[in-house]
Amino acid sequence: MTTGPQSSSRIDTGRPHPARVYDWLLGGKDNYPVDEAVGEQLPPEARDAARQNREFMHRAAAWLAAQGIDQFLDIGTGIPTEPNLHQIVQEIAPAAKVVYADNDPIVLRHAEALLVSRPEGVTDYIEADVRHPEGIVEHARHVLDFDRPIALSLIALMHFITDDQDAHGIVRNLVATLPPGSYLVLSHAASDLFPELAERVTAEYAKGGIRLGFRTRAEVERFFDGLELVPPGLVTATEWGPSSPSAQAEGSGIYAGVARLG
Ligand code: SAH
Repeated sequence: MTTGPQSSSRIDTGRPHPARVYDWLLGGKDNYPVDEAVGEQLPPEARDAARQNREFMHRAAAWLAAQGIDQFLDIGTGIPTEPNLHQIVQEIAPAAKVVYADNDPIVLRHAEALLVSRPEGVTDYIEADVRHPEGIVEHARHVLDFDRPIALSLIALMHFITDDQDAHGIVRNLVATLPPGSYLVLSHAASDLFPELAERVTAEYAKGGIRLGFRTRAEVERFFDGLELVPPGLVTATEWGPSSPSAQAEGSGIYAGVARLG
């Protein structure tokens, strides 16, 4: 079953957008010259970080499905890039239900790619802003059963939400809606692993009018307050889960973790 996108707004090609810069970093085609201009100015490590982050999503989603999780709420989904989360989890749990949310209209334009569910499962897309989590949860309740465990994924999203926008409070409120046995999956650009690179990246995005709030390890750890991080805990994106020795040796400026609600 597939339900349709909810709303529509215009794509602004006059200024860069996070989803499109990320798409450029991943080598995608759904971006505009303004986005490419930001990407070109970023250090080459930014492309590695995007790929490592995406690969963390792949591993974490597969791991969760293998744990028996079959309901997913993915906020800050990004422009569809294969494999998308539902493709990974439905490979393992064909009846899995996935609700996607993003606030960028370009994601809506390509949302059909997110909505091709296996017939046994469900995929759904809502254009919404994580800073208004109530609306997202209200929508998700039509698709997901909030009395059964849900994996909430906020992957490379929360560094777009600054402290003055109450990033930690938003995550706390979202997690509070989930039943025991649910999971929080979160990855986040670090301010303290490669500080000079982080500053350069922040400065380049700022020139394009995009505010970033990269965080220290302790600040990222706070998103998991009151939750139980599963092994290996909060690590860098390449260190999470089973991966090749070469991937582990590769440095990463992205923190990543998965935690369970007791
Ligand atoms: N989660 C995907 C994409 C990460 S890029 C992945 O890890 O591969 C970050 C995404 O967050 C972009 O698509 C951007 O549009 C979205 N985003 C940024 N701010 C947002 C907000 N306030 N609400 C919802 N989505 C947001």
